[in-house]
Amino acid sequence: MDTHSVEAIVIGAGMAGATAAAHLSATRRVALLEAEESAGYHATGRSAAIWIRHYGSPDARILTAASRGFFDHPPPGFAEAPLIAPRDVVHLAPPEQVEHLRQMLAGAPEMRRLDLGELRARVPALRPGYAALAALEPDCFDIDVAALHQGFLRQVAARGGRLALRHRAGRIRRQGGLWRAEASNGAVFAAPVLVNAAGAWGDEVAALAGEPVLGLQPKRRTACIIDPGEYDCADWPLLGDVDHSWYVRPEARRKLMVSPADETDSAPLDAQPEELDVAIAIDRMQQALDIPVRRVEHQWAGLRSFTPDRGLAIGEGHERGFYWMVGQGGYGIQTAPAAGRLLAALVGGTAPDADVVAAVPLTDPRRFGRIAAGSQDRPA
Ligand SMILES: Cc1cc2nc3c(=O)[nH]c(=O)nc-3n(C[C@H](O)[C@H](O)[C@H](O)COP(=O)(O)OP(=O)(O)OC[C@H]3O[C@@H](n4cnc5c(N)ncnc54)[C@H](O)[C@@H]3O)c2cc1C
Repeated sequence: MDTHSVEAIVIGAGMAGATAAAHLSATRRVALLEAEESAGYHATGRSAAIWIRHYGSPDARILTAASRGFFDHPPPGFAEAPLIAPRDVVHLAPPEQVEHLRQMLAGAPEMRRLDLGELRARVPALRPGYAALAALEPDCFDIDVAALHQGFLRQVAARGGRLALRHRAGRIRRQGGLWRAEASNGAVFAAPVLVNAAGAWGDEVAALAGEPVLGLQPKRRTACIIDPGEYDCADWPLLGDVDHSWYVRPEARRKLMVSPADETDSAPLDAQPEELDVAIAIDRMQQALDIPVRRVEHQWAGLRSFTPDRGLAIGEGHERGFYWMVGQGGYGIQTAPAAGRLLAALVGGTAPDADVVAAVPLTDPRRFGRIAAGSQDRPA
């Protein structure tokens, strides 16, 4: 079997792998290996597609903010239509969550308290008496996930990179200063740099390569689509409780996506929705919104994968040239442009841009202490 010699191998062609490969391919020949028949089959194709500034771990917030410029002004030819569209986010606090929302308001000056009458005029389905306090988070967006993902994959191809679908990396080893990844079909790729962007399978891929694992935990999240009946929800904000036990978001103009915001531990697998989680989503939504649900039109689940401190892991691991690009949790889409930029700087040994440099210690995979320090000089 021939060995394909490249300058970087990226494992996993979800959003993390696509942005990593796109940024690396500006200066390197890249092979992007994907186990499935299509790129984006797992978490990336199952996202709710929202950009929210005040969301997630401190490093996620830095990368979210640093990605904003890319979403506003992607490079020429990156996508045929805008990548984002404005979507307000409204946080609702039933009486027992009011203190939480007050604290949130105090920490985010651009967020404003929303008059409940004003909110009901905009969302007539809101049940009087559900919320004791509401706050509007402006400057949030729906993201066109497919356009973003395809844009990165097109960049990879345009820069001479190769996307290899149905190539599950099954054996990975380091030999003579090169990483050698053998795919399930026998193809072998060799490069001095290997990026682990395998999402929920991140620890599995690390173990294949003989790297200490980080303790990644995939967590299942469920979503379903319903018809809001008499209501025209196209311009509704994303609405949910501030404790994050449910949320709804307009979908394709006439429909509503509903989620119980679940986080059920899972093994890495092709996640499927549980009927109970769908029922919980609808029940919690109906406590706030007077929307009869006659049938669920579509339901799905995906895995959001978290490191032990819920921050991302972007950076070099134990062996030279092994890079982590995992732990995107619930923010892998909104952080993708800046995360790819940061990874490329770390791989290239250049100074990270000023807008992402503060994320470097926060995303360093060595912070978990499982990766032995000072091992970089070990012979290959
Ligand atoms: C319901 C839901 C709502 C969400 N909402 C949002 C949101 O509003 N905003 C946001 O920013 N994020 C959101 N997310 C999170 C976001 O979808 C993820 O953070 C992101 O998609 C993770 O991308 P990834 O590339 O790391 O993972 P994945 O998309 O899962 O990609 C990993 C890929 O690696 C491949 N792979 C694994 N092992 C191997 C191997 N050995 N060889 C080759 N390939 C391999 C897999 O086949 C897979 O395609 C949501 C997620 C869910 C499930």
